[in-house]
Amino acid sequence: RAYGGQGRPAPRVLVIAGADSSGGAGVARDLETLSAFGVRACLAVTAVTAQTHREVTEISAVAPALVAEQMRTAFAADAVHAVKIGMLATSGTVAAVADALDAWPDVPVVLDPVIASSSGRLLLSEDGLATLLQRLLPRATLVTPNLPELGLLAAGLAAAPDASRSAPKGAPAARENAAGLQGVSAAIASPAARLLAHGAAALLVKGGHDEGDEAIDCLLRTGQPAQRFASARLPVSLRGTGCMLASAIAAGLARSEDLTDAVSQGKAYLTRRFEVAENLCV
Ligand code: PLP
Repeated sequence: RAYGGQGRPAPRVLVIAGADSSGGAGVARDLETLSAFGVRACLAVTAVTAQTHREVTEISAVAPALVAEQMRTAFAADAVHAVKIGMLATSGTVAAVADALDAWPDVPVVLDPVIASSSGRLLLSEDGLATLLQRLLPRATLVTPNLPELGLLAAGLAAAPDASRSAPKGAPAARENAAGLQGVSAAIASPAARLLAHGAAALLVKGGHDEGDEAIDCLLRTGQPAQRFASARLPVSLRGTGCMLASAIAAGLARSEDLTDAVSQGKAYLTRRFEVAENLCV
């Protein structure tokens, strides 16, 4: 369904992400996903990367001013109903994206904190991570770290000299949040509590890197019980799954679904995608 029916245009998602020449991750996956949900897409490309499924060979970051101009024109052309953020590459781009979003405080933002490729190449600089924690974490409607990213984000907050001062006023103390995360393993509760205390509105901690027969993702919000989304762990390796899930959730939010429904439908989409994966990567 390309358009929303009854003469209404389909919702529109702004994708702010990197291009992956292999097509395995980044904007190629985002567009494929949004199209599957019948949602229109517009783009702010943050970096051009040359990759195979096994390695990243080159990265060229797009100038922050050009990223900002892509965002400005996307917002000027038509309504944007949700924003999906993936690879940002540099601190300058993180800041430019945060500045541009300041003009659109009501648009939901799904932040996939892309830090490194599966092959180990950094996709966000160290100072970029600090700027992301400072500027984008408090702006996001949902942050979608996998387990390694959760650890890196929390460690980044711990290392920030002004970590406690930069937490927005009124944010509950990390310890109180930790207490509200009963039933969540300590390995997740402690770093998650730190991110929530720093102003992240909601976290979807993805269990794909964990072990066990099921992949369990946890939706965590301050003062609310944790919600678990389990799916069978399939013996398939598919790249770009983080991009696809974040885009699928952004599609749901753009369609005015609540966060729980958007996550649940995103997970269901990913499971179907795993089941029909033809482009298996070794
Ligand atoms: N390249 C780009 C442009 C990405 O956005 C991402 C992840 O979001 C990756 C590479 C890493 O993907 P993977 O972990 O599947 O290698």
